[in-house]
Amino acid sequence: MENSFVKGGEKNNNHQPPLSDAQSLSSSHSHEHQASIKYLNKYQNSIENKEAFWQEQASQLQWSKPFTQVSDVSFDKNDLHIRWFADGELNVCVNCVDRHLAERADQPAIVWEGDNPDHSISLTYKQLHEEICKLANALESLGVTAGDRVILYMPMVPEAAFAMLACARIGAIHSAVFGGFSSAALADRINNCEAKLIITADLGLRGTKSIPLKASVDEALTLAEGHSVDKVLVVKQPHGSGTPAWNDKVDLWYHDCVDNQSTEHTPPTFDAEHPLFILYTSGSTGKPKGLQHSSGGYLCYAQTTFKEVFDYRDGEVFWCTADIGWITGHTYLIYGPLAAGATTIMYEGVPNFPTLARFGEVIDKHNVNIFYTAPTTIRMLMADANTALSGSQRTSLRILGTVGEPISPDVWQWYYDDFGLQQAQVVDTWWQTETGGHLIVPIPDSGPVKPGAAQRPFYGIEPQLVDSNGDILEGETSGHLVILDSWPGQARTIWGDHQRFIDTYFSTYEGMYFSGDGARRDEDGDYWITGRVDDVLNVSGHRLGTAEIESAALTYSDIAEAAVVGYPHDVKGQGIYIFVVAKTGVESAETLTDSVRSKIRQALGPIATPDHIQWSPDLPKTRSGKIMRRILRKIASNDFAELGDTSTLADPSVVDKLISGRKDLN
Ligand code: ATP
Ligand code: MG
Repeated sequence: MENSFVKGGEKNNNHQPPLSDAQSLSSSHSHEHQASIKYLNKYQNSIENKEAFWQEQASQLQWSKPFTQVSDVSFDKNDLHIRWFADGELNVCVNCVDRHLAERADQPAIVWEGDNPDHSISLTYKQLHEEICKLANALESLGVTAGDRVILYMPMVPEAAFAMLACARIGAIHSAVFGGFSSAALADRINNCEAKLIITADLGLRGTKSIPLKASVDEALTLAEGHSVDKVLVVKQPHGSGTPAWNDKVDLWYHDCVDNQSTEHTPPTFDAEHPLFILYTSGSTGKPKGLQHSSGGYLCYAQTTFKEVFDYRDGEVFWCTADIGWITGHTYLIYGPLAAGATTIMYEGVPNFPTLARFGEVIDKHNVNIFYTAPTTIRMLMADANTALSGSQRTSLRILGTVGEPISPDVWQWYYDDFGLQQAQVVDTWWQTETGGHLIVPIPDSGPVKPGAAQRPFYGIEPQLVDSNGDILEGETSGHLVILDSWPGQARTIWGDHQRFIDTYFSTYEGMYFSGDGARRDEDGDYWITGRVDDVLNVSGHRLGTAEIESAALTYSDIAEAAVVGYPHDVKGQGIYIFVVAKTGVESAETLTDSVRSKIRQALGPIATPDHIQWSPDLPKTRSGKIMRRILRKIASNDFAELGDTSTLADPSVVDKLISGRKDLN
């Protein structure tokens, strides 16, 4: 049995994949074998008959005018174009809501769980439809028309979903900006997409913190000189201040505009390539890019990956914890689940309010079958596992997803063993804002599972590894991760800067989409994402991925989080610098430094021995919870002057703590 559950990293896993009582070990072997064959056949077929495969997937949407051509694509940087189902017409909102009314009018579409554990609301497809129609009518009456940009700067409340879908319904292009972003970051985005309207709330609520969204919008509009915003629609929150600063020429209460509107709205139809939304990347590596996504291709990809990757079964409850300000909150909180007619949970708050037990409690309360979150959250739960696991059973869970960063085998294992009680399959989903949906992921029942690996391409996806010359590498190897051919969900351009789109993704390696990530392919052909290629270390001529060293550090049971960066080293070229955060309750962590160092050395060999280990109360993270290594690189290099753009940082005060910790080490 151990063999079919392949080793993760350097650690031996004796854990077994989910087995029903009736299954013997040998029948499980053959079951996995058959699953592999089934996946491989379907995958092979999807590549060999790609057009037919996507034609069939797209036919599961409702088209007002059917398409006659599946794809029209060139990855050639001199003639770059990406079009799918281009002569077809549809309405994305109709596909997510109206078409389900015949069969699912009374089924919950969105279950909203408030920050306060006593607040939740269930909205049926019928109610969702009515709310969207009212808002669509209101937006039209305010002069918003197809192609106009609407910024959503919203808390995680049902109106955020209404806003996305009402925009989709009338063909306005939404651009959600995470509510935790500063007014300066918001101003940049307002100007970049030339927004006509902003939808916001008086206040947002996360844990015990109130977030003055409307006041930030006011500030942003002052900063965004010469902006094109006509109106700001403000959702009044029950806990709101009641009277935010108000500009009668611009500001409107949402309820004043929406409440008296008709609950009927006749949807127009749009070309498949009509832009559905613009979304700015997290900004882990540099200035955020406004990726533009399509209507038909994006929705087809969202629906297909949602159903396949989460093995979605009719009637199940799905919970994606991502904020709607991120791509995960678009594809797997709203568009994928609703296109599939699922029940999707939207949670207003944070993982540790009132306590770290909250996620488990919400899972039990709503009988969540499929749960999707990020490694940063799993590490947070794991750092105080007793609390996180207390007060809930979590027996409804069937599938556990992860996204956002490489997940270390140990974190994976805890997620599977402890959080999921060894009865829920883990799917590690690798993808990007640019890709629209999952690209590499061990689809449930597609063969043996490897903790810490994204493993296998999704149907229709052709990943490859190349060296720095762009030459394709064969077999077991490491390299830069590229995708050889298009898929319907990929972004079509960077809003307002098509050249940057070409330069960033299609110019490094000719005729290929370059992800910016590095990966290792093992002897079975499975992919392990090693981190961004810019983060790869070169130590005495050896290339080391940050993910590998971090995973080794995380096998040390007192460590909650680890981040590795390189810094200039006279002898080795680059030295290894590791920032570590101790688990809750660990005292005088500094005394553990030597044993952490030898643990990493044991796991990966002398070449990976860290030169410096710095303990820190926290790590610098983007607002979506990713470790921002470029800042750590500067700190490790004693270069505190030019830290670059820190506006996407969740808690800028972490930087000062890190700098003083660095100075102490010197
Ligand atoms: P920016 O592009 O502005 O630097 P970002 O890349 O963090 O920001 P996203 O599009 O939200 O913005 O994140 C995509 C990236 O997240 C991937 O390129 C990859 O580095 C990382 N990632 C996502 N999922 C996984 C995963 N399952 N395993 C490993 N890495 C992942
Ligand atoms: Mg990126």
